[in-house]
Amino acid sequence: MEASHAVDDTLHERPVDILRSLIRFETVNPPGNERPCIEWIGEVFETYGIEYKTYTKDPDRPNIIARIPGGNDPPVLLYGHVDVVPVTDQEWTHDPFEAVIDDGMVWGRGALDMKDGVAMFLANFLRIATEDEPLASDLVFLAVSDEEAGGEFGLEFLVEEHPELFDDIGFAIGEFGGYPMEVAGETFYPIQVNEKQVCWLEATFTGNSGHASLPTVDTAMGKLGRFLAAVDEHRLPVHLTPTVESMIEALAEGLDEDEGDRLLELLDPGKTDAVLEELPFDARVLDAVTHNTANPTIVSGGDKENVVPEAVRVRIDCRLVPGQTPDDVITELQTVAGDDADFEVVRFDEGPPPASLEHFDLLADVLESATGKTAIPFMMYGATDARHLAQVGVESYGFIPLNMEDIPLLDILHSGDERVPVDSVAWGTERVYEALRTYAG
Ligand SMILES: [Zn+2]
Repeated sequence: MEASHAVDDTLHERPVDILRSLIRFETVNPPGNERPCIEWIGEVFETYGIEYKTYTKDPDRPNIIARIPGGNDPPVLLYGHVDVVPVTDQEWTHDPFEAVIDDGMVWGRGALDMKDGVAMFLANFLRIATEDEPLASDLVFLAVSDEEAGGEFGLEFLVEEHPELFDDIGFAIGEFGGYPMEVAGETFYPIQVNEKQVCWLEATFTGNSGHASLPTVDTAMGKLGRFLAAVDEHRLPVHLTPTVESMIEALAEGLDEDEGDRLLELLDPGKTDAVLEELPFDARVLDAVTHNTANPTIVSGGDKENVVPEAVRVRIDCRLVPGQTPDDVITELQTVAGDDADFEVVRFDEGPPPASLEHFDLLADVLESATGKTAIPFMMYGATDARHLAQVGVESYGFIPLNMEDIPLLDILHSGDERVPVDSVAWGTERVYEALRTYAG
């Protein structure tokens, strides 16, 4: 491995070198082991003469924050996570932690999620620190551990134990968005402005038990089976939010009139599901953002072949539309699948309130003038650290600009051969700079 994590005071001109250095720290979560990577960022700050602080819940999993003074507008927070998902059982053309450049691309785990973003944010932070003209506001940089496993050692810890760090922040820039996404054959640039909420349930079914040599009716297994079949066959009810309305309206504007009109029909709750069935492209994202979803993922119960178990359980990964609660989705599941189950909420991460879109136009203009494509406010169907920032009243925008229209980004996120074009990283770094220089609160 090329071990060089060389640091000098021109690093801000080379975001790709920053990215490659970050990838070479093996920060697979679990266990994360982010400390060497975070310490390297500290070394960069020392080289630039920038003061920083680290905050840790676990000494091996620190978080680092720094601030450059600017004008009196509300400060902008650039934030990202340095942990990555595992690489086991995946096909990789190049070692995922070598950050090889091949075919014009940097290959490695985290190239897209999201060491590319951390590199862009850090390069801009350093660049602005070296420039004579201050920004209209303070600029804050934060790199955290543990996003991929929920943020217990990262942003969740920071907002719970050090909320004062976020007291004056105007808005935040992080993941997910800024890259091309194809809808109905057209290219759009989504900017995450809101996200769904994680809600994990456990459903327990009880029934007649006994020796498995005798016929047994009304069993826990039978109830579980009927429940799983019902959940598999039905969508939960439609829930439209202002964010999703804005998202679908922006998509419709970017399409030709017929396609656009068909998409707008999604906004009629009586038609949403029928339209989803007919759309001639993969519409799972639109499906996800207009419904609570429930995917059974882990079944447990029974431990002996000849004993009919009294109780069996299934874990269900539900993702809730903003504003929905665990009780709401339990009621929806009972409507779809009957009331045989006893539900327990295993985990609920309350998400952000509906997006204000206050800074969407600023970021959208940057992307639209550079690409000629339409930027759309995006409701993320997964969860990001933005939900933790929402707990301290900070609104987050997903803006990691990449103009990589030929590479199926969503197919290689969290997969083998995660990679990012070298040119795109440089391009995205410039777009972040434009946004920061354009902002005045
Ligand atoms: Zn990520």
